[in-house]
Amino acid sequence: MNEDLKALVRTIPDYPKPGIMFRDITTLLLDGPGFAAAITRMAASLAMPPDLIAGIEARGFIFGAALARELGVGLVLLRKQNKLPGPVSGVNYALEYGQDRIEMHDDAAPAGSRVCLVDDLIATGGTALAGAQLLRGGGAVVTQAAFAIDLPDLGGAQRLREAGITPHSLMAFSGH
Ligand code: AMP
Repeated sequence: MNEDLKALVRTIPDYPKPGIMFRDITTLLLDGPGFAAAITRMAASLAMPPDLIAGIEARGFIFGAALARELGVGLVLLRKQNKLPGPVSGVNYALEYGQDRIEMHDDAAPAGSRVCLVDDLIATGGTALAGAQLLRGGGAVVTQAAFAIDLPDLGGAQRLREAGITPHSLMAFSGH
């Protein structure tokens, strides 16, 4: 599936720590036709057009912004703590070691709006599920999410399905 795009992703072993195979999308972004094809195919993979895209900081902003532009819809920023200037809501979520938090402007995704989450990669799904919880907490409807890369062995895509969200990924890599 999308072997041409997969060939543009660079794998860096043992980054940021031993045992992790880091799937580096910067090499895909450097390839103009490859980046354009990734966004076109991401847009085509969506089951229905959303009202808004929600990009997760930081690499989710890159794919999210391009996808929102492709679809002609607005972009919600799901940011790390204390980055957004207006009134925000936030969700804490567990990382392998420790905790993280994402925040959203309270007026960014109106109740009833259909929002598609976007990130570069889904691994355990913890980040995307926190994003969905944040959006749903404000009344938005989240039924689909788009990723450039899925790591299916880590189970995140399955966890999203169990939460009522259909994950769309351009490519998959086995292992961690
Ligand atoms: P998770 O919350 O476990 O689904 O992790 C997803 C987030 O962590 C995404 O924002 C990714 O950018 C990043 N991430 C996790 N694992 C990798 C990996 N092997 N290579 C590159 N990025 C990763």
